Amino acid sequence: MRKPSANPTSPVMTAANENAPLARPSKLEAMEAVKTLIRWAGDDPMREGMLDTPKRVVEAYREFFAGYEDDPAELLARTFEDVAGYDEMVLLRNMRLESHCEHHMVPILGYATIAYIPAEKVVGISKIARLVDVFAKRLQTQEILTMQIADAIEEHLKPKGVAVFIDAKHQCMTTRGVHKSETGTITTRFHGLFKSSEAMRREFMMLASSSPEVR
Ligand SMILES: [Zn+2]
Repeated sequence: MRKPSANPTSPVMTAANENAPLARPSKLEAMEAVKTLIRWAGDDPMREGMLDTPKRVVEAYREFFAGYEDDPAELLARTFEDVAGYDEMVLLRNMRLESHCEHHMVPILGYATIAYIPAEKVVGISKIARLVDVFAKRLQTQEILTMQIADAIEEHLKPKGVAVFIDAKHQCMTTRGVHKSETGTITTRFHGLFKSSEAMRREFMMLASSSPEVR
């Protein structure tokens, strides 16, 4: 676990985990908790097919929630100032998004489209893709996730504009509860020119709103 720091963008200080305890349980304790949940589901954690399940689950959790280990400030720190006058929109379209809802801890699956208009700094496009995971690989709500991605780009790149569009399906809605399996949830966040210029926003939305069907 990362130590607490005064940097407001470090993972321990962000909204998605501000209440998270800093000390993690041991792997063994986590595996015991999984056994309890297996019993809660109505099955026997000691039957043969499930003997390794607690271990697999806690290891899967490390992957699902790897974003807590990453710092967006660090990720976006390496920028290129020489953009040779490029001042048009940079847009990454339909990036696969995999997150987990903080209310039910089940998957949120969808696509994110992100655009920014560089001022003097650009960042490698793969960094933008990784930024999505820094925030998505945590317990989330789609609204906060959308804001965190946009606000991190705004804060660390100081571009002329930022736009984030997320289209996702929430398994807590599609496979349980109201069972509205076709419902996609769309959230957006705009800064700078995308906020002030309707034409820019319209251009972005036209490019963003054709996300592929979520499976
Ligand atoms: Zn939920």
